[in-house]
Amino acid sequence: MLNCEETGRLLSQGMDRHLQFWEKAGLRIHLKMCRKCSQFRNYILKLKELTQREGPTLFEPEEEKLSDEVHSRILDAVHKHISSGEAENHSQKPT
Ligand SMILES: [Zn+2]
Repeated sequence: MLNCEETGRLLSQGMDRHLQFWEKAGLRIHLKMCRKCSQFRNYILKLKELTQREGPTLFEPEEEKLSDEVHSRILDAVHKHISSGEAENHSQKPT
């Protein structure tokens, strides 16, 4: 079973490589159960759309280096996304 971090990593990897069948299956199961990650997936899809449209200007001239940086930014966003979701839950505790 994938956790949120692994799901986020696979989602970001899915931007530039084809995922294995078992990876896609794991993603699908996790996304069904986890609203945070399915929202994050929508964000990734939008980002992918954007980078495809703006690709030539965004990724010039050092495509590989930048895409590494993009990946780490995405992972960073996943972590923030996950921890901010948890923080929200905590703040909603009844007093
Ligand atoms: Zn999740």
